[in-house]
Amino acid sequence: MRIVIVGGVAAGMSAASRAKRLNPEAEVVVFERGDWISYGACGLPYVLGGDVRDWDALVARTPERMRAQGIAVRLQHEVTDVDARAGTVTVLDRQAGRTSTEPFDRLLLATGVSPIRPDWSRTDLQGVHVLKDIPDGQAIEASLKGAKRVCIVGGGYIGIELAEACRARNLSVVMLEKAPDVAGRALDHEYRVRVREELEQRGVDVRTGVTVEGLTGKAGRVTGVQADAGLVRADVVIVAVGVKPQVELAKAAGVRIGKTGAIAVNNRQETSVPGLYAAGDNCESTHRVTRRRVHIPLGLTANRMGRVAGVNMAGGEARFPGIVGTGIFKVFGLGAARTGLTQAEANDLGLNAVSVDVTSTDHAGYYFDASPIHVRLTAERGTGRLLGAQLVGCRESIKRVDVVAALLHGRGKVQDLAAMDLAYAPPFSSVWDVLLVAADKLG
Ligand code: FAD
Repeated sequence: MRIVIVGGVAAGMSAASRAKRLNPEAEVVVFERGDWISYGACGLPYVLGGDVRDWDALVARTPERMRAQGIAVRLQHEVTDVDARAGTVTVLDRQAGRTSTEPFDRLLLATGVSPIRPDWSRTDLQGVHVLKDIPDGQAIEASLKGAKRVCIVGGGYIGIELAEACRARNLSVVMLEKAPDVAGRALDHEYRVRVREELEQRGVDVRTGVTVEGLTGKAGRVTGVQADAGLVRADVVIVAVGVKPQVELAKAAGVRIGKTGAIAVNNRQETSVPGLYAAGDNCESTHRVTRRRVHIPLGLTANRMGRVAGVNMAGGEARFPGIVGTGIFKVFGLGAARTGLTQAEANDLGLNAVSVDVTSTDHAGYYFDASPIHVRLTAERGTGRLLGAQLVGCRESIKRVDVVAALLHGRGKVQDLAAMDLAYAPPFSSVWDVLLVAADKLG
């Protein structure tokens, strides 16, 4: 049995480890076109901001360690074509400039996403970046040395984390966002406003409703961003306007692409072509609240899909349980989190949804350093079925979102939340935790 894996980060390496552990006789080969495998891309902004020591700290398992486990890791090897019928892939060794044909019995596409690069003039100027992987991070780090002004295009969670990293380096930061608010559709308007306030209080110049038209430069280096609202001068421009699933190989292999634009898979991570699996950011998953196919590319999803694919490719039996749309990010002193649906998303789906908002403190008000926490809880009118929650508050308080996520997995109701025995002591919570108060108010 020869298992070939394309892509060596979260999904690919999780699959490789699982497959090898379950079936030590199988030959497992990973082709990665870059130089890095098995690292936490989620930590990239924190290396730039200085909270994480260096790039190596993000690496979970080195190629040497994987090889010691019996997994063949080929760096700088790009898979350029798949012949599903013949059971072969074409591989370009980027260093040697040679192409070879490699056989497989099972193939996993764990190719992730690529950052959207808008069709602006002069994106080839030095000092213009995206942030997707460690080499991108290293290039940004080099550009930031000696820079004074940074313009971040895009106010999604990666743009927000980058803004914080640049402020930590004492740089002046302008954030340009096309939409009326930052944080995209991750949060409802009222919660996006809180995120924006925190950015502005920490010195980020947030400009929304602004469309970028192109970049300006001098002697090959970027000097600014030309927007409909005027020119923003910048020594470094970081473009964080979203990602798209890398599905070219899947298409070449005749694999079905879903309506979301990502690869359609069943819950064993099998694609529409027998013997071909897909896992991670390039895949759709099923939303357990809406039962719809969605594309929400996040780290835990990628790791778990990889495990499931690894087990199944090695001859075992595992199923991906679906997701509930849980996400969390840091904004300077705050955390913002959501799970399930926002009120706006529920409205768009035609659900009869109702929300309550509660502001309380993260722990007992009389205990020192209590700080505000804002919660929106959303449920289906009439049935009381929980649909989602959004939270903005101090960083330590925000993992509460997991309580609601757990209930959403079991299609829980508001009454279930209201009846829960949640942990209480003054340094951690109020006796009636903010989630219980919200559930009471909604019930
Ligand atoms: P990727 O990590 O994209 O890996 C795919 C690999 O495949 C790449 O190394 C690529 O080089 C390789 N590849 C592609 N095509 C080929 C080919 N043809 N041949 C050979 N190799 C190929 N998620 C969270 O849940 N929480 C967070 O806080 C968070 N923060 C993030 C912050 C940043 C800045 C970024 C960029 C991402 C963040 N994410 C976060 C998302 C998370 O990192 C991804 O969900 C995860 O990395 C996806 O893993 P993956 O293996 O599916 O894809």
